[in-house]
Amino acid sequence: MHPAQKFGDNPVEVRETGHYTEEYVPSFVEKWDSLIDWERRSRSEGDFFIDLLRKRGVKSVLDVATGTGFHSVRLLAAGFDTVSADGSADMLAAAFANGMKDGHVMRVVQADWRWLNRDVHGEYDAIVCLGNSFTHLFSERDRRRALAEFYAMLKHDGILVLDQRNYDAILDDGYTSKHKYYYCGEDVSVEPEYVDEGLVRMRYSFPDDSVYHLNMFPLRKDYTRRLMSEVGFQNIETYGDFQHTYRGEQPDFFVHVAEKE
Ligand code: SAM
Repeated sequence: MHPAQKFGDNPVEVRETGHYTEEYVPSFVEKWDSLIDWERRSRSEGDFFIDLLRKRGVKSVLDVATGTGFHSVRLLAAGFDTVSADGSADMLAAAFANGMKDGHVMRVVQADWRWLNRDVHGEYDAIVCLGNSFTHLFSERDRRRALAEFYAMLKHDGILVLDQRNYDAILDDGYTSKHKYYYCGEDVSVEPEYVDEGLVRMRYSFPDDSVYHLNMFPLRKDYTRRLMSEVGFQNIETYGDFQHTYRGEQPDFFVHVAEKE
């Protein structure tokens, strides 16, 4: 039996940093990985991150949001010395298996960002936190704390690469004009089911009629940039995305690249 997602009687009240481990239940993760196949994802992303890291002479990378390993495996294949961390043991098990399929023995560490330095050792040229992961932190205190942990684990000339969904568009367009994001053609749809300044509850529907949700904190782009600089990062560059799942004017994702010094 697979455990189901648990959001309780009032799902929109679930606004807790630690809840992510109960949201990424194995059945959701398996489904997502089998439908959004990695080849398709690689094609749409191109070599954006690999090029960015190479251009800056990065050798060692800590992937703090490994998930099922998409970026870690690409980084290993590209020759980066990569350590793969995540707070979810289920995710890391899936990532490790995915790495093996590709001939990589991934170095995995289970670690929550809020206590990253306790469980992960060493200093890195780059930390990547990708796939709209930072959105899982529900209090400003946790966000500051996680960023400070990332900062501390970087070499003096290291960089943090962190992406996020374009929540400004979702918040400003309002609940009524919410749009669906389609992946794999029409197979998987992702749409905001509930939106306020403190929560975007995303609904993921699959072709077999199964439905899953994730509760996320809607990070405004300039807010994320401000937090990064307040924690000490210098020179923060923000890119519009490489990938458009929505045919509109606005990018769906932003990628922030922040330098430690
Ligand atoms: N980067 C992967 C990708 O793009 O496919 C996974 C992205 S998934 C949306 C977010 C990941 O962040 C999950 O694997 C989750 O377990 C992890 N995560 C969320 N909050 C975390 C925290 N506080 N500490 C450590 N990992 C966390």
